[in-house]
Amino acid sequence: MKKLLLLAAVAIATTSTLNAQEKKDYPKPEAMRPGMSEYWTPQPEIVTPGDARTCAAPSDAIVLFDGKDLSAWTNDKGEAAGWKVKNGVVTVDKSKGDIITRQKFGSFQLHIEWCVPKDIEGSSQARGNSGVFLQDKYEVQILDCFGNETYVNGMTGSVYKQTPPLVNAMRRPGEWNVYDIIYTAPIFKEDGTYLYRPYVTVIQNGVLLQNHTEIQGTTEYIGFPRVEKHGDGPIRLQSHGDPSKPISFRNIWIRPL
Ligand code: MG
Repeated sequence: MKKLLLLAAVAIATTSTLNAQEKKDYPKPEAMRPGMSEYWTPQPEIVTPGDARTCAAPSDAIVLFDGKDLSAWTNDKGEAAGWKVKNGVVTVDKSKGDIITRQKFGSFQLHIEWCVPKDIEGSSQARGNSGVFLQDKYEVQILDCFGNETYVNGMTGSVYKQTPPLVNAMRRPGEWNVYDIIYTAPIFKEDGTYLYRPYVTVIQNGVLLQNHTEIQGTTEYIGFPRVEKHGDGPIRLQSHGDPSKPISFRNIWIRPL
């Protein structure tokens, strides 16, 4: 009984203390005004976009191919890239191998246009096969997938042998396809494993194929992805060994992020 009385007394005392605090006249938070959640600096850098009809490079882009020459590219030995440039277009020369950019990149936005020959022949992977390698490690597939089926994680716009594209947005052979690729470079731990994996978003002809897709590791033809510690790397365009006619590229530019 005594215990109960004591508890009741404590409860009454606590309540009266709280009441006293509630009655105290504390300042109220200031009412929100629109300007309190707005800031004005730093203003983003002004970039003049290219002509929308031609997808020309924005003012701050590094132009990797503007139709004139391949001076921004080499072969794997560091020699001048041997693919042929004609009428503002560069065509893969399968006897000369891949080409890579002289410059290395971390994260970036890449614009690249490519065209499969109108009279392309072959099937599955042997039909207009090429590819864009991000940081020389991770291939975004290029292939003629217009009415041409193949394994889905090897389709156009796949992260090769990893992630199929969300849809098939191919234009027919002879028409130009446009890739806009946004790539976030990985960060590695001391032990060579990923702290943050690489990510890629791929848009083909205005249609989303990869939506901030996590890249698992290198894109191997045989075997599973490998994790290889690396820094900045070039863009590589693939000269694929399939017997079909070579594809062409034009209008390539990149914006490091
Ligand atoms: Mg390929």
